[in-house]
Amino acid sequence: MEMEQLIDKYFRAGRLPHIWCPGCGNGIVTGALVKAIDKLSLAKDDVAVVSGIGCSSRASGYLDFNTVHSAHGRGLPVATGVKLAEPRLKVIVVSGDGDATAIGGNHFIHAARRNIDLTVILYNNNIYGMTGGQYSPLTPTNSKATTAPYGTVDRPFDVYDLARGTGATFIARATTYHTQLLTDVIAQGIEHVGFSVIEAITACPISFGRQNKKGSAPNMMKWQKDHGVMLAAYEKLTAEEQTDKFPIGVLYKAQAPEYTAEYDKVIAKAQKGAK
Ligand code: SF4
Repeated sequence: MEMEQLIDKYFRAGRLPHIWCPGCGNGIVTGALVKAIDKLSLAKDDVAVVSGIGCSSRASGYLDFNTVHSAHGRGLPVATGVKLAEPRLKVIVVSGDGDATAIGGNHFIHAARRNIDLTVILYNNNIYGMTGGQYSPLTPTNSKATTAPYGTVDRPFDVYDLARGTGATFIARATTYHTQLLTDVIAQGIEHVGFSVIEAITACPISFGRQNKKGSAPNMMKWQKDHGVMLAAYEKLTAEEQTDKFPIGVLYKAQAPEYTAEYDKVIAKAQKGAK
């Protein structure tokens, strides 16, 4: 389906135009999400999109599914409630790096630990964009931010390590340059039964790019092209070569008991009165 038809089918025309800055990658990630849903032929009523607060979290308002634009960092607990109430739904959480790993970090680790069947699309633009360019837990060390005018000293999380260490059973990464890959891994994440995390590396040319002299939006996408390497090729690089690159594609996949299915067993036991 052409993008124009996808927009007609999956976006709320009355909510457009969107508020994202020219050159922002958020539209590309959101476009990849609707392409993935279209590829899976999911009925719109069978999809719920939940977001927190931030530039990327605005996506829930633009999309024509069951949607909730919740509070900052709280997309995951709201999505957990939606999933427990209606397990048939494909529940997708759109979240930024600050939303998912700072104020929502505690929710992230416990949703991963439970392996609840949610798909998190983590729009990683390395900064709090909407609130004015403060550094987030995914801002690289030595970056400039409005809260770090001399450069950050914090070490950032690696989303893969965070998700893997806390129990996620599907972890993938792609960039807004690698759009086909991004669509594919989002589709795989939605199909996966369990907690899936897709890190979408996206450019914020305004709040991150300007402060860190990253050049224009196309330059920032070229950086993604030059540094993202498919996992199989990345593993063949020397340790020194790897320091300048990051792996993309499906990084981890496993099966484990899924939370809503396990919870149903508890309900069945309680209904029988058995302990
Ligand atoms: Fe996109 Fe950054 Fe503008 Fe937010 S501030 S809309 S992330 S370019």
